Amino acid sequence: FYVVDNQPEGKETHVQGESDVLLRTQTSGVQAHVMEAKEPPIYMICPGTVFRPDTADANHLPQFTQVEGLVVDEGITFGDLKGTLDYFTREIFGKDRATRYRPHFFPFTEPSCEVDVSCGVCHGKGCRFCKNTGWLEILGCGMVDPNVFRNCGIDPEKYTGFAFGIGVERVAALRYDLPDLRMLMTGDMRFLKQF
Ligand SMILES: [Zn+2]
Repeated sequence: FYVVDNQPEGKETHVQGESDVLLRTQTSGVQAHVMEAKEPPIYMICPGTVFRPDTADANHLPQFTQVEGLVVDEGITFGDLKGTLDYFTREIFGKDRATRYRPHFFPFTEPSCEVDVSCGVCHGKGCRFCKNTGWLEILGCGMVDPNVFRNCGIDPEKYTGFAFGIGVERVAALRYDLPDLRMLMTGDMRFLKQF
């Protein structure tokens, strides 16, 4: 695919075959479209392929699958966010795994967090797999910023909500202890048939 390189002074380089379409870097646009089109309550997920300017290595893929979730309703609190994501974590990784919510910045949620799950290899003691921290980052989340609601025609005095985004390949790698994300992309049936 092509990314148009916008030059200074408004000069754009157009090479034949180039397009000014940018492949999406996240699926958050789906959430905005749903909030514009529907009245709360909203409980939704949007799975989809996203693209990043990353070089593929053991921990990064230039193309991966994201699942975003959004809840908008009356009386939704940070406790609902934590309860939902803790439930998700226990179902995916097992009941013995702890979660940790680290403050972080995301443009469309406030407050925002990154969520870590305790390392399943060392159970939080620290090892090479978790870079000696005892924790593995699994997702980003936060309470929807009131300005996002205003821009989508939803009354932020009446409704609150939370959103989260998960990288499917990364969660699969953590659940199945895959040493390299690229293993999911090579199409080797001997590997894929294990699942
Ligand atoms: Zn560890």
